[in-house]
Order: sequence, then C-alpha cells, then structure tokens
Amino acid sequence: MALRNVKAGRGETLRRGWLVVASATLLAALALAAEINPLFVAAGWTLILLSLLLSPSLPITEEDEPEDIPEPPLPRDPMIDLCVAYSALDMPVMVLGADANVLFQNDAAQDAFGEIAAGSHLSVRLRAPGILDMVRETIATGQPNQIEYSERHPSERVFLLRIAPIGVPPAAEGTDPAAAGFCYALSFRDISELRRIDRMRSDFVANASHELRTPLASLRGFIETLQGPAKGDPGAHERFLGIMLDQANRMSRLVDDLLSLSRLELKAHIAPSQRVDLVPLAGHVRDSLLPLAQDLGVEIRLHLPSAKVEVMGDRDELVQVIENLVENACKYGQEGKFVDVYLRNAPSQPVELSVVDNGPGIPAEHVPRLTERFYRVSVADSRSKKGTGLGLAIVKHILTRHRARLIITSELGKGTDFTVRF
Ligand code: ADP
Repeated sequence: MALRNVKAGRGETLRRGWLVVASATLLAALALAAEINPLFVAAGWTLILLSLLLSPSLPITEEDEPEDIPEPPLPRDPMIDLCVAYSALDMPVMVLGADANVLFQNDAAQDAFGEIAAGSHLSVRLRAPGILDMVRETIATGQPNQIEYSERHPSERVFLLRIAPIGVPPAAEGTDPAAAGFCYALSFRDISELRRIDRMRSDFVANASHELRTPLASLRGFIETLQGPAKGDPGAHERFLGIMLDQANRMSRLVDDLLSLSRLELKAHIAPSQRVDLVPLAGHVRDSLLPLAQDLGVEIRLHLPSAKVEVMGDRDELVQVIENLVENACKYGQEGKFVDVYLRNAPSQPVELSVVDNGPGIPAEHVPRLTERFYRVSVADSRSKKGTGLGLAIVKHILTRHRARLIITSELGKGTDFTVRF
C-alpha cells in the first residue's frame, strides 16, 4: 500500500513538471508573436505555476502508473526457518553439523535427551557406537540412514533414529562436507509403545497356544492309549473317557474366555449407556454359584442396601464381573468358609462392590500382576480349580469400559478383598 502511494507521488510530480514547461513555452511563443509586455507575460507565468502547484492531484490511469520498483530482498537465513519449523514438531529432532556437532535441538529433543550445549559433539549425550557409525556414514556419503536404538534409563524407550542431509544434494566425490557447510537432520521416532504391543501380542499367542496345547496333548495321549494298550479294557475306557471330557471342557472354557476378551477389546472405547441396578445382580450371581459354593463348602453372604444401587453399565458384563470375583473367592478362599459380598452406596461417595474372602491371601508381589492375561499365583492350583488364568483379565477389561477400577487388597493368612469402585 505504502509502496503504491510513493510511486503515485513520483508520477504526479513528473507530469506537473512537463505541464509547467509546456505552458511556459506556449506563453513565451504567444508573447513574442503578439509583442506583449514582458511584465504581463511574467505575471501570467506565475499564475500558471501557482494553479498547477495548488491544484488537487490528478487521477492516475493504469497507463500512467510507473513500473514497479522491486523491494530490496530481506536477508533470510534458511537454517533459522528450518529450526522454527522443527520447533513446532512433537518428535525429537536435532540438526547436526558436518563434524557431528549438535547445532540445534527442538523442545521434544530437549525433553527426551536433556539440553545439549550448542556446538557439542553428539556423543556427549548419545554414545551408542551404532548411532555414531550411522552419523559418520551419512556425513561421508550424503545418503540417509536409520537404525533402531533403545535406552533403559530413565525409562525403557525404543527409538527409530533417522539421519538425512538437509537440502543439499549427496556430496560429490571428493567434497569436504565440513568445508561445504552441510547440515544433517537427526530425528527420533518413539516406537516404545509399538514394541510393547508387539511383545504383548507374541506373549499372548505363545501363552494361548501353550494353554491349548496341554489339554490337546493329553487328549491325543488318551486316544492312543484307548486304541492301543487299553483297547479291550472297559474299566480303562470309563476312566480315560472321564479325563478326556475334563480336558475337552478345559479347552472350551479357554476358547470361550479368549472370545470374551476379544469381544471386549472390540468395544473397549464404547461406554455403556444403560442404567443397571446392582442389587438384583448380586443376588442372581449368588444363586447361580450356589452349587459350586456348596461343593466347596463355602457360604456366600450378601450385604446389600434395601434401595436400588444404579450405575451406568452393561448388565451381562457386570454379572460376569461379580461372577468371576465370587467364583475366585470361593475357589481360592475355600478354607475361609465364608465369602462376603458388600454393596455400598454412601452419599457423595462412589458406588463400591466388594468381594471379600477369608482364605490364605495373595503374596504382595503377585497382586499388581493378577489382571494380566494368563497370570496365576500357582498354575497347578489354578488348573486344578478349572482356572484359565483369564478371569481377572476379563474383569479388568469390563471395568475399563465401565470407567470403574479394581482395587485388590490382600493379607497373607487373613484373606483377600476385591473392590470394584464405579
Ligand atoms: P484363574 O482362571 O486362574 O482363576 P484369574 O484371572 O481369575 O484366573 O485369577 C488369576 C489368579 O489370581 C488365580 O490363578 C489365583 O492365583 C489368583 N486369585 C484370584 N482370586 C483370588 C483369591 N480370591 N484369593 C487368592 N488368589 C486369588
């Protein structure tokens, strides 16, 4: 805008200059031709000059406009632009010089690796030979490179490191990158979460296969025995078929639990939208587990408020939570004889459901891991009690979807308390 006004002003002055010269020449010619008094001519001349100087600006037409005068370019440092752009990234990035010295690190890099004084060599913070070799190679060849790098301190992290020259063609044969002032971008992609999920997935597949393989191997063994050594032995048939049925049931329990888990994972992020009264659910679970409790010699006691206790939830899933907890309490706390189910709904307090047994309790080191898939305090004990090692993992998944927490407190020799806080 300002530039255009300046240009218009210059055009106007030029034009007025020409008008003054033209009119003065005309007046002088007329005066000579008509032999007019020179004083009279001078007065006329002054009048023309004044009228031109005091007249308002004449409009400028497109053709009048003088040529654009280019603005002198501001000196810009592309490296500053680049660092500003890197600062906006949430991924750690460092800019290295051709001596592998750190010229710049963005905020994410400072958070991840601490502040590195500008100009220090990269090895001040990252000493892994793999990284330094990779950097050296890229500086020497001008070709991008990447490696995986893991750190154990302060926490276990895995990064995919990539280095690439910034805005320069690959170094020509014999070029000295330092003399040419080449720079390199070293970026760090945090893949710790991906690696953790990969490990979990492969552990899970290994565990699930192992759990299925055991009853399968047992079934195959008994079938071979029945076909071979025990072929004509009705007593052995009777016994072995009973065991085979147990193993087949174990496999189907495992498959059911695995399917439950995968169904729950699919809807993990969809919060339930029904209102469910927990009072009748607790009664329903007690009734359905009565035969098991009687077999084990355990009494399930309910301590429920008389009024409704409603939470947002999925009825069937909440039944499964209470069932898994009460069943575990009966199985693993059998020697305590009583299993108590408390439902609390105190004003301005979260709703809580607790399943408490008086069994042997759980050693403290196992408590934080109980909700992991296939985690058991004693595998033999769990198997003998028809456990799959997935019951509490299912409980945890359901509660996550219900935005509820599972709080486990246990005292050796006294018993265990599983509390669900909604
Ligand atoms: P499982 O199918 O083996 O019962 P869970 O996931 O339900 O699998 O439970 C995991 C483990 O937690 C069990 O194997 C058992 O060792 C322990 N556990 C669960 N509930 C109790 C309890 N009430 N008392 C003692 N140990 C328990």
